[in-house]
Amino acid sequence: MTTDPNPAVAELLGRSNRLGADPRNTNYAGGNTSAKGTDLDPATGAPVELLWVKGSGGDLGTLREGGLAVLRLDRLRALVDVYPGVEREDEMVAAFDYCLHGRGGAAPSIDTAMHGLIDAAHVDHLHPDSGIAFAAAADGEELTRRCFGDRVAWVPWRRPGFQLGLDMAAVRRDRPDAIGAILGGHGITAWADTSDECEANSREIIGTAERFIADHGRPDPFGARIPGYAALPDGERRARAAALLPVLRGLASTDRPMVGHYTDAEVVLDFLERSDHLRLAALGTSCPDHFLRTKVSPLVLDLAPSVPLDETVARLRELHEAYRADYAAYYERHATPDSPAMRGADPAIVLVPGVGMFSFGATKQTARVAGEFFVNAMNVMRGAEALSTYAPIPEAEKFRIEYWALEEAKLRRLPAPKPLASRVAFVTGGGSGIGRAIAHRLAAEGACVVVADIDPASAAQMSRSA
Ligand SMILES: [Zn+2]
Repeated sequence: MTTDPNPAVAELLGRSNRLGADPRNTNYAGGNTSAKGTDLDPATGAPVELLWVKGSGGDLGTLREGGLAVLRLDRLRALVDVYPGVEREDEMVAAFDYCLHGRGGAAPSIDTAMHGLIDAAHVDHLHPDSGIAFAAAADGEELTRRCFGDRVAWVPWRRPGFQLGLDMAAVRRDRPDAIGAILGGHGITAWADTSDECEANSREIIGTAERFIADHGRPDPFGARIPGYAALPDGERRARAAALLPVLRGLASTDRPMVGHYTDAEVVLDFLERSDHLRLAALGTSCPDHFLRTKVSPLVLDLAPSVPLDETVARLRELHEAYRADYAAYYERHATPDSPAMRGADPAIVLVPGVGMFSFGATKQTARVAGEFFVNAMNVMRGAEALSTYAPIPEAEKFRIEYWALEEAKLRRLPAPKPLASRVAFVTGGGSGIGRAIAHRLAAEGACVVVADIDPASAAQMSRSA
């Protein structure tokens, strides 16, 4: 018996870390990769065919062996014969447990069927902005043909699951010349017989899509600049953001306490200055991976940055009330008797022209990632509108993703939040002594701690160590 990792695993981890290191290839914790190979079964001493696939919830950029699910390919492939049909496909996730090799490693994700059933030794499934721009364009199928010819297939939108795995396996079988596919309303998948070739195929799809948008897209996909909606000068913009953030955090915490994150990235300010931003923002985000973090659509302030602060705050309060009513109506339109309960009606993303984007989540990290995901959505909108019209999946499908029983089960498995999670603490004199001990204690209890000290170096050193 050997404890050395299988060579296929080392290749898979290297490829995953390289692809995951560049946010243009996939969003944080989005996408998954796999390798198939032969190992010795310690129970029999005989060779066994295995699938190593990124488990549920991990991030490609930092993936380690412990983040992989390990399944027996013979048993995974045999699931095709007991599959009860698309209406009951969610049951197949529990069946993965009966395919595990040894203790199985990380929990298998919903995309395990796609990786196992595609007949290729290496498979990458990614969420690149350029690929999703094609996937979320009104004529994505035609654009895919024009851009890639026969080299990349088009697969119409289908919710991730066992049936999508069967669809993808059929594409691989029927299109032997294709290196991968654009998955409508979702992302891309690439495959190959070697790890290096698979990585090259993923990069080819992403890079070719980027170049096609640059070469064939129209120059101002978000429309003309709106007079008065330009970004405020740096200092004013930061001051306005500082004045708005406590108000917005209060509004976004109506149902439960939230932490806020702010960005004034160029891509955000440009989007908010353009004539089409309200129409596009209303269409919401584009990748099934994003809905749980960003909610179905953002709250957008419809006033110029020159409007006085008190009027702006009054308008934000009105818009927040309207947002909550709209969100509840969206839930009512689509909920069925077995849907999970509504998870709160406050916005996760608030867009303020001239100032930037505020994003909210239960922790500092989830608040930041929600913002990152909406930047992904803006990049996707830009690509799709440059070539065609942005057309994400229908609202009913968005709801099915957001309130999917499997996602609800994942949320319920999360550890209970620490007592001070989603609270912000400000500790003066926190760089040393009692202040330092208090700051450490608050951080250990889950608070986001701001450390101030008369000695800025000690405060900075403290905040790095917390
Ligand atoms: Zn995906």
